Order: sequence, then C-alpha cells, then structure tokens
Amino acid sequence: MKKLIVLITILTVIFSCKEIKKEVAEAATDSEKTQKPEVKLYTFSGGTVQVNQLQLFSQDTTYTGQSKEFADAFYVIQHPNGNLMWDAGLPEMLVGMSEPLTPPGGAFTVSRKDSLVNQLKSIGMTLNDFEYIALSHTHFDHSGHANALKNATWLVPETEYDFVTSDDVKKDNADLYNAIKDLTKVKKLKGDFDVFGDGTVVLKYAPGHTPGHQVLFLDLVDHGPLLLSGDLYHFSENREFRRIPIFNYDVKQTHASMDMFEAFAIEKKAKVYLQHSKEDFNKMPKAPEYLK
Ligand SMILES: [Zn+2]
Repeated sequence: MKKLIVLITILTVIFSCKEIKKEVAEAATDSEKTQKPEVKLYTFSGGTVQVNQLQLFSQDTTYTGQSKEFADAFYVIQHPNGNLMWDAGLPEMLVGMSEPLTPPGGAFTVSRKDSLVNQLKSIGMTLNDFEYIALSHTHFDHSGHANALKNATWLVPETEYDFVTSDDVKKDNADLYNAIKDLTKVKKLKGDFDVFGDGTVVLKYAPGHTPGHQVLFLDLVDHGPLLLSGDLYHFSENREFRRIPIFNYDVKQTHASMDMFEAFAIEKKAKVYLQHSKEDFNKMPKAPEYLK
C-alpha cells in the first residue's frame, strides 16, 4: 500500500511537471507571436512580358505554338530594422514608349508603365530609404531599375555575382552586366541568408535557372509564411509538372532546387506565389495596399 501511494505521488508529480512545461511552452509561443516583428510586403508592377514563344519554357514540345502573358512584379519589404527591394522589374527605358517593345529574336514583347521613383511615391518612399536590394537573379526582367538603388547593399549569391560580372557576360550579354554595374555596395552570400536575423525575411539559395538564383521567404504576422518564387517556376503548370525552360543554366540543379523549395514550403506551411503568374500577381494587394 505504501509503495502504491509513493508510485501515485511520483506519477502525479511527473504529470503536473508535464502540465507546467506545456503551459510554459504555450506561453512562449504566444509571446513569440506578439513579439514577431511586423513585416509589410508591397507588390508593384514592374511591367508586362508577352511571351510569344512559350516553347522556350519547356525542354519538350509541350508549349509549341503557344503564347502567354507574364506579370513582372517587384516588391518592397518593410521591416522595423530596414527596407529591402526584392527584384527590380523590366528596364525603365520602356516607360513612356508609345508601343510595347519586341527585342530581336521576337520571343518576348515587353512594356513598363511607370518608373520606380514614381511608384515609390505612392507609399511615401524614396530611393534612399533602402538598406538592401536582392534580386532573384540577374535576367533583364528582374534587374530593370536595380542601378537606381546604388546606395543600398546588394545581397547577392557569390555564384550569381561571378556569373553576371564574368568576361563572357560582359562580352556577349552586356545588358545583364550594365543593369547591375552601379551596385557597388555588395554583400556576397554563400547559401541562405536571414536578412534581419530573426527569420522573418530569408533569402533561400535555389540555383539552376541561373548560377546563383534565389527565392524569398517571408514570415508575415497576419498572412503567415509565404514564398516568392523568382523564376524557379514561371507559371503553375511548370510547377505541377516540374518543367524547365530550355535557357536554364543547369537542369539537374534546378530540379534539386525545386525539391528543396517544395520541402521547405511544406515545413514552413508557406503559401507560394509565382512571380510571373498573372493569377498569383492578381491575388496580391497592390501598393499602396500591402500584406502584413
Ligand atoms: Zn529569368
């Protein structure tokens, strides 16, 4: 009998300890929630890309003869400790053109309606309000107004930096280099980078589309976690069927990045937004409205 009483006492103590631990854990999650810094995501149009040769976006003939309109978004992320520009739309030389422009080759027809400076006015910001700029990659439809942020620190994977500043690119594709050449405050990254050190704004290394392609993870208080895709996927069918554009830098690497991305999205329960998808672009509130 005495033994039984002792056992019951021990069990009661263990059980109540567990209860206390549980309460402490719950309290911690609550305080984490209230202490999580409020991050705001503003979505802007950086123009429109009419893809005249959609077959470029698959290694097979699935899209032969098809065309598709792509959104071309850029984003401003406001964090209590600083502001980040994510991607930079199409080149600003398009603003004010009477007709959309079709560069040689005819694959794309591009247009852009407004300049960065004007667009920032709608949220009361100027070019000098940015601590950071990060590009998903350095293709022309993502680096349009990058040079305008020359006072910001460019957060760039070393592999992308080496690619876009290489002699080959300068010789054969100088526009790519010229679009970022004024960004002289450079922080070269190796892998993922937690921009403000609190897990709310994280650059995830996802190479393959280009040598140093990356995507952006945001943990927003009201909306919850989300991922901006860069060009890992251009539209939903390519995500569903893991199709890869013929102009990607490395197919195998792209598939590995897709695996990483999908596993991370599940782990974080993150909502995924494909930046070139018009459907996804339309889901976003547009500046001056924002997600938080
Ligand atoms: Zn691209």
